[in-house]
Amino acid sequence: MDELLDVAVIGAGMAGIIAARDLSAKGHKVALLEARDRLGGRTYMDSACGDVLELGGAFVHWTQPHIWNELRRHGILVNPPIEVCRHYWLADGVVHSGSAEDFFGIVSPLFERMFADSRARFPMPFDHTAIDNADIEKETIEDRINSLNLSSYERAVLEGALSGVVHSYKDHGIAQLLQSAATYFGNFGAFFETAGSWSIQGGTKGLIDSILADTTAKICLSTPVTSIIDEGSQVTISTRDGQTIRARSTIVALPLNTIGDVRISPSLPPVARSMIEKKNPTMAGKIWIRIRGEIEPFSITAPAGKSPLNALRTERYVNGDTLVFCMCCDDAAIRAKDSQGVQDVLRMFIPGIEVVDIAYHSWATDEFAKGGWMMNRPGFFTTGAVDLRKPHGNIQFAGGDISDSEPGSIEGAMSSGAQAASNVSFRLAKVQL
Ligand SMILES: Cc1cc2nc3c(=O)[nH]c(=O)nc-3n(C[C@H](O)[C@H](O)[C@H](O)COP(=O)(O)OP(=O)(O)OC[C@H]3O[C@@H](n4cnc5c(N)ncnc54)[C@H](O)[C@@H]3O)c2cc1C
Repeated sequence: MDELLDVAVIGAGMAGIIAARDLSAKGHKVALLEARDRLGGRTYMDSACGDVLELGGAFVHWTQPHIWNELRRHGILVNPPIEVCRHYWLADGVVHSGSAEDFFGIVSPLFERMFADSRARFPMPFDHTAIDNADIEKETIEDRINSLNLSSYERAVLEGALSGVVHSYKDHGIAQLLQSAATYFGNFGAFFETAGSWSIQGGTKGLIDSILADTTAKICLSTPVTSIIDEGSQVTISTRDGQTIRARSTIVALPLNTIGDVRISPSLPPVARSMIEKKNPTMAGKIWIRIRGEIEPFSITAPAGKSPLNALRTERYVNGDTLVFCMCCDDAAIRAKDSQGVQDVLRMFIPGIEVVDIAYHSWATDEFAKGGWMMNRPGFFTTGAVDLRKPHGNIQFAGGDISDSEPGSIEGAMSSGAQAASNVSFRLAKVQL
């Protein structure tokens, strides 16, 4: 590419897509550089199990301003979740079952205790440094659970209920979950509903196609970036296939776990570098399971480390069969499982259940993701992520992994992409004055 661009946006996940669309709408000359041969990053739809499935991020909510605004703008509706009739939960090695009232009757008071200080810790959830949270940044989810002095049964039920968002309880800090609860007025159950209930009609791909129909940005697929050098007057970007791209500014909208694969100069501040080096620990995933027959809607929870299937729920029916999805805390534990292996695990909960097919994308081993959704390690949520959000010369980072609102989500990615675009546009305008 010979011309000098105004902005090169690197990474075409939801953050990069929004940034490229917003900047081009303001009249900037923009290119969107994406390593894969498709758009969407950790949102990804594919045909499997006799349907078209969301193999990555899918659930959204009307409480999330950026995603909701995009859906309304493009006239896209959301699918309501199926009401679950039967809950199964693994605790102390035993499968328990009951109604929604039975299950949430145990879980809700445990959530209340666990997140009791969320609003005190994050009184303004959009400003993570509003108060000094250095002490809370040392605390892991495991530390927090230990501090509640629960019976082993209560502990297992709580760990199972949290299993849809974690890799392991000791790898993640409590700070991000406290901020998530604070965003929903301290009600972790409300956060949970937004994070995992309503999907997009036509899916994430339909939404992306609609968003990009509005852009003049040049879209370059199959273009992995290998280095970003800020020379002061311009940024020079090199790609794996030997191209050089020059831009006045760049937005780096990459997953945290792949930023370290790109040479960035000048180097970043120490805490930001440390966050990039230590990575997002979420080596988790999501599996779809097609079950023979239309069976009563159900959910299953099991603590991380106690089962390869952790947070499972009926999603819909397809041609007389039942489709369920499951968040799995450990990608390595589920990757080895075929339909038979998944059926064996499921039959521990529901004897006689018959698995017809499964579908899975391993985000942990995906070269351009290297992990799942963002769940911060202790020590970085209010430090490294804050540093990464600041401009670094002509380089601006963006993405769901470092977002100040709803981190680890599609909403977080969109909000961060919009914010980055706005910052860059403002700076470009200032330079021109
Ligand atoms: C299994 C799973 C389930 C999830 N479920 C939900 C959910 O239900 N609801 C929700 O809100 N969120 C969910 N999430 C989280 C959500 O998908 C992400 O937070 C969001 O999609 C991240 O968007 P992003 O643009 O920041 O990053 P990404 O989508 O990862 O986009 C980054 C892009 O950068 C590209 N890239 C990487 N390296 C390079 C390079 N060197 N050069 C150029 N391009 C590169 C990647 O290919 C990718 O396209 C889920 C995530 C996963 C993995």
